[in-house]
Amino acid sequence: MSECIFCKIINGEIPSYKVYEDDHVYAFLDITQGTRGHTLLIPKNHIPNVYELDEETAHHVFKAVPKVAKAIKKAFNPIGLNIINNNDRPLQSVYHFHVHLIPRYEHDGVSISSIDHSNDYSESDFKAVQDAIKQAF
Ligand code: 5GP
Ligand code: ZN
Repeated sequence: MSECIFCKIINGEIPSYKVYEDDHVYAFLDITQGTRGHTLLIPKNHIPNVYELDEETAHHVFKAVPKVAKAIKKAFNPIGLNIINNNDRPLQSVYHFHVHLIPRYEHDGVSISSIDHSNDYSESDFKAVQDAIKQAF
């Protein structure tokens, strides 16, 4: 897609710090370096987000995830690593599907957490949520 910043990176029209590439995917340093080694993994074909991700492209991207994760672990020996994928506004800022690999370090200032709402859920609440998703396939 001609106006997509990540397509331009794949095509070399915009420079990037590439760390891995194969026939189907491209991995490069996120410009923000939220933590040291923060990497983005993207398919080479332009797909806006997970809702339009076909199975074959998903296969290629997620096959590469552990490869890139292991390289980051070997390079920086982080205490952990988050894998994040944002979809749709306001979470997603670049509409070319991408997986963030974010190595984590002591006192890195990154906060990725969710609140435990389990006390607010009865058995029937859980079942209603389960049914809503199951029926949507
Ligand atoms: P999102 O918020 O869509 O999940 O993440 C998009 C990511 O792309 C952001 O973390 C941002 O730093 C990164 N990004 C945006 N533009 C560029 C760029 O031109 N080069 C690189 N390397 N990263 C970019
Ligand atoms: Zn693109």
